[in-house]
Amino acid sequence: MEYMRTVGILGLQGAIVEHETALINAARNMNMDIKLKRIVEPSDLDAIDGLVMPGGESTAMILIGSKNGMLDAVINFLEKGKPAFGTCAGAILLSKDVKRGENMEGKKGAFPFMDTEILRNGYGRQVDSFSTELDMQGGKFKGIFIRAPIINSVGKDVEVLIEFMGKPVFVRQNKLIATTFHPELTDDTRIHEVFLKLI
Ligand code: GLN
Repeated sequence: MEYMRTVGILGLQGAIVEHETALINAARNMNMDIKLKRIVEPSDLDAIDGLVMPGGESTAMILIGSKNGMLDAVINFLEKGKPAFGTCAGAILLSKDVKRGENMEGKKGAFPFMDTEILRNGYGRQVDSFSTELDMQGGKFKGIFIRAPIINSVGKDVEVLIEFMGKPVFVRQNKLIATTFHPELTDDTRIHEVFLKLI
């Protein structure tokens, strides 16, 4: 019998349940059995094969994570080359270069493993949130952007999988993927399926 993969969802803060639902649906579409685990303390990471970092508020996540040892534990996990999927705030945390934001300007994200330069709240406050049709290989994808960051530039090892207005919004670097929008808020599981294929 094939070994059942366990997917962790970083449970510090943010849209956790929506990712759990999307992962279950994606796995069903792929005929794959997975287990889910909310990651709230460092030892939770021992049991998982891949980690989802949800959207929410990156500054709040850093604050909470620095108090309970989760930041160091996740860095440890990613250093082993394990797969991760960051959405929105999660993409900020994974970025090597973060522009704008209290205590974050010109700094690395909390988990700086992706060679991306990212601008927090890049679409401005007055248009905090919008949804748009994105062009993805194999068809359209509904992109829901909520106080989303803009990926300004990517390094040579980063593959751009979807672009919007000339900027990358879905990127991949080895076993790491990130979106600046929220696929977990749609019924479309294709991006979660990309992640499950990595684990
Ligand atoms: N603007 C948020 C931040 O900087 C991200 C928003 C989101 O994840 N929807 O962390």
